Amino acid sequence: MGRSLIDSHTHIYDEAFDEDREAMLQRALEAGVRQMVLPNVDQVSWERMLRLVEYHPDYLYPTIGLHPTSVGADYEALLAYLEEQLAHHSVYAIGEIGLDFYWDRTYEAEQVEVFRRQLGWADRSSLPVILHVRDAFARAFETLRAVALPELRGVFHSFTGTEEELEEALSFEHFYIGINGVVTFKNSSLKDYITRIPLERLLLETDAPYLSPVPKRGKRNEPSHLVYTAQFVADCYGIDLDTLTEVTSQNARRLFALPTL
Ligand SMILES: [Zn+2]
Repeated sequence: MGRSLIDSHTHIYDEAFDEDREAMLQRALEAGVRQMVLPNVDQVSWERMLRLVEYHPDYLYPTIGLHPTSVGADYEALLAYLEEQLAHHSVYAIGEIGLDFYWDRTYEAEQVEVFRRQLGWADRSSLPVILHVRDAFARAFETLRAVALPELRGVFHSFTGTEEELEEALSFEHFYIGINGVVTFKNSSLKDYITRIPLERLLLETDAPYLSPVPKRGKRNEPSHLVYTAQFVADCYGIDLDTLTEVTSQNARRLFALPTL
């Protein structure tokens, strides 16, 4: 049946796909991207995600969480809503959650509080976490250590930190590193040290509709583009695409408890 890639982070419920969603999914399947993990952002995205996974429950996997850039004055109401949804739906992870001090630091303290609370959800529900960390690694590492949940597992998604931050991320031994199209960008230094990530802790993702890899950079991203990132990463490691596919898909299945398709 050929290649079987997993897009471990894709926002295909986004309105960017409203015009051609089924055709886009068909292109993904034809490119060998057969399973997709859908990270949540807020209440609107959750409602869109629920409607979408109803159509393809066999290969689209929902997760739930409040994204750090969606943390504002109304965060208590949002958390209450999402926690209630979590109690009534089966999901594959708590995500995406974390800290983002790049866009806006107005709600910095609230972001940390919301992050901690959702780490607690993951612990209580024995689910992995999808972490979004941007310009906030020191604080994120500190928070992870402070909550002291030795069983906690997850992924640092869209990893674009420095080599030192990568080493520290890897010191959380139950965590994977999610790599997307950014690694293919000329101005990204990630390719210089990506091979520090042991293959068995590497996940591939698109973060569609954002961050489309070269040669589709600047265009709307979609799961079928995962192949370009996968080939680029395979070349970095000096292995063939099929080997990289097999290892990273196994990793994604292990972390999110996905079926083998
Ligand atoms: Zn995302």
